[in-house]
Amino acid sequence: MVNAIDVLVSGRVVQHESPYREPATTGVIRLRGVTKSYGTGPGRTQVLKGVSFDVSEGEFVALIGQSGSGKSTLLNIIGGLDYPDDGEVEVLGLDYARASETERARLRNRRIGFVFQAFNLLDHLTCLGNVILPAQFTRDGKDASERGVEALRRVGLADLAGRKPSELSGGQKQRVAIARALFGAPALLLCDEPTGNLDSETGKEVIDFFSELNQRDRVTLLIVTHERRVSSVARRVIAMRDGMLGDAGPDDLSRPA
Ligand code: ADP
Ligand code: MG
Repeated sequence: MVNAIDVLVSGRVVQHESPYREPATTGVIRLRGVTKSYGTGPGRTQVLKGVSFDVSEGEFVALIGQSGSGKSTLLNIIGGLDYPDDGEVEVLGLDYARASETERARLRNRRIGFVFQAFNLLDHLTCLGNVILPAQFTRDGKDASERGVEALRRVGLADLAGRKPSELSGGQKQRVAIARALFGAPALLLCDEPTGNLDSETGKEVIDFFSELNQRDRVTLLIVTHERRVSSVARRVIAMRDGMLGDAGPDDLSRPA
């Protein structure tokens, strides 16, 4: 069901079929039969073989599975950074197949936060500079510094706003990256092995922080991780196996990356 909205075009009100669905009918993520292959000819491999799943508002879902099983590919498709070959992808009410590139970019920039294994911080900028960097390219630049310090406060690093990333520990760097992801107050946070470059103690701290963020601020979380602790704090653990998703069994949790 697609709803129609009225749009003002050149001074005239016209009906425009919105790519957004009725909010009441959707969760945060809805995937149906998503497929993706890489390569051509005999070298072609099907990474996703028809992935279907839903994530509701406020959920904390951990995605696990062996290395090369397609977890990052799936996360990138959900984040609008990559395209599926087939299937339906709907995120925060936006039907990707019907949306324009601009609409997808707007959703990505304003409502989705990304956290990666490599912290991807720029070392010539301060921590605050890194956090507010995305805002410099949008209209959201107003009060950016103030809001950037607030984002750093949420990850417990307001005191280090003026430091360079090279002066921080690994855990602190990842917290700066999380502050950057939180800066735009996203409804959905997609994290790809956020603890992969951290020692297990620091990894636990970061996972605990995600848990707190989910419970306190109701941010919906989808985290690719091998951190054992996640199985106890995530509300749902799903496993990627043979290009498809299923509930994780005890085997998946004990298996290394
Ligand atoms: P995971 O994150 O679970 O380790 P990925 O989604 O990164 O898995 O990769 C799944 C498979 O797809 C791997 O075999 C990988 O080599 C392949 N792959 C991923 N991205 C590309 C790409 N851009 N081009 C070709 N093959 C790719
Ligand atoms: Mg990966």
